Amino acid sequence: MTEFDHRPRHLDTKLRARAREVIPGGMYGHQNAGRLPAALPQFMAEGDGCRVRDVDGNDYIDFMCSYGPIILGHRHTVVDAAALDQQLRADCQNGPGEVMVELAERLVDVVDHADWAIFSKNGTDATTTCVTVARATTERRKVLVAEGAYHGAAPWCTPIINGVVPDDRAHLLHYQFNDLDSADKAASVAGDDLAAIVVSPFRHDARHEQELVDPNFARGLRSICDGAGAALILDDVRCGFRMAYGGSWEPIGVAPDLSAWSKAIANGYPLAAVLGNERFRAGAEKIYVTGSFWFSAAAMAAGLATVDTLGSESALAKIERAGARLRDGLAAQARGHGVEIRQTGPPQMPLLTFAGDDEKFTLASEWTDVAARRGAYFHPWHNWFLSAAHTDADIDEALLATDEAFAAVRKALDHR
Ligand code: PMP
Repeated sequence: MTEFDHRPRHLDTKLRARAREVIPGGMYGHQNAGRLPAALPQFMAEGDGCRVRDVDGNDYIDFMCSYGPIILGHRHTVVDAAALDQQLRADCQNGPGEVMVELAERLVDVVDHADWAIFSKNGTDATTTCVTVARATTERRKVLVAEGAYHGAAPWCTPIINGVVPDDRAHLLHYQFNDLDSADKAASVAGDDLAAIVVSPFRHDARHEQELVDPNFARGLRSICDGAGAALILDDVRCGFRMAYGGSWEPIGVAPDLSAWSKAIANGYPLAAVLGNERFRAGAEKIYVTGSFWFSAAAMAAGLATVDTLGSESALAKIERAGARLRDGLAAQARGHGVEIRQTGPPQMPLLTFAGDDEKFTLASEWTDVAARRGAYFHPWHNWFLSAAHTDADIDEALLATDEAFAAVRKALDHR
C-alpha cells in the first residue's frame, strides 16, 4: 500500500448516500460515477487549468475536461471575465443581448458551411433542432443515423429506450459508420421520404474503439443527400473546435448543410448552436424552437471569448501536441510492461483499450482506477479530451500515474 491508497473519500461517500435519498438512482446520465471505477469521485469541488479537485480535496490531472466542454482549461480567465462582465449587466432578460448577434456573426465567419445560427443550451437541443429544420425544409420524414452513434438523450435518439415508444423513432433508419453501401441501402429504403442523414465527424461511440472517417464515405454521404435533396447533418457536439476551427469536416472538404454544436463552444458555459446554410434558412424560420434560458447572454459572451481565444492562441495545435505526447508516452509504457493496447481516435480525443479485455472493461477499469488513485483522471470506455491547458509537464506528470496503472494491469494479466 502507498499513500495514494489512503486518499480521503469521506465527503464523497456521504454525498452519494444523501443523493440516493433525493436523486433517482443517486445520479443519472453520463456523469453517474456509480458505474465507474471506485477511485473516480462523484462530486467535484474545483478546477483550474487542466487540474480538478474533488470534494474531499483530492487533485487530478483531468483528461475528461467535463466530457468535452473544457477546451481552454478550467477557470479560463478571459472566458470567465467575459461571462462575468455580461452576467453582472444582464444575463436572463426579456430579450437577448447584443452579444447574440455578435456570436452568430463570428460563428458564420469561422465555420465555412454556415450562413446562420440558432442558439440553445445542450447538444440534444442542437441535434433535435437540426432534424426539425431538415424535416421542415424537405417536408419529409425519414432520418438516417449510424448504428450505435450517440446524438443525445431525447426520445428520438436516446440509447436507452425505457420510456420511449416505437412511434418516437418510427422514421429512423440505420447505416454503419464508414460503410457507404449500408447508407445507400438505407437511403433507398427511405426513398423520396428522406429528410436527412445524421453523422458524427468520426466514430466515437462509447464502449467501442474509435474510427476516423474515411473521406470517401463522407463524400458519399454528401452525394446521397445532394441526389435526394436531403440534409447532411454533422453532429459536431463532441468534436466541434477540437478537430478543426472551421468545423470537423472542413479539412476533408465535405460541407454539411446543418451542424450541431455544444460542449466546447463556450468553454464550459451552457451553450449549443445549430449552424446552417442558405438552403435551410427558410425551414429554420418556419419551426418553433425556444427555451427559457436559450437567450441568456452570459453563456454567449463566454462563447464569443472562447471562439476568439481558440482562434488567436492556436489552441488546437497545443491540444494536438499534448494528445500526441500522451499517446507516445502510453505506447512506450505499454510496450515496457508487455501489455498489448490499442489507442484509437485523434490524439486530442483519444481512447485506450486493452487487448483481451472483456465487455465489462475489467482491464481498462483497473488501469483507470489506479491512475485516478495516483492523480490522473481518465475514463475506461468513453473517449478522453485534451485541452489547451495541458502542458508537456502536465502530460509527463500524468505519465507517472499511468506507469503504475500499466504495472497493475500487468499484474492482473499475470494472475489470470
Ligand atoms: N451528440 C454527441 C456526439 C454527443 O457526444 C453528445 C453528448 N455527449 C450529444 C449529442 C448530446 O449533448 P448533450 O448531452 O449536451 O445534450
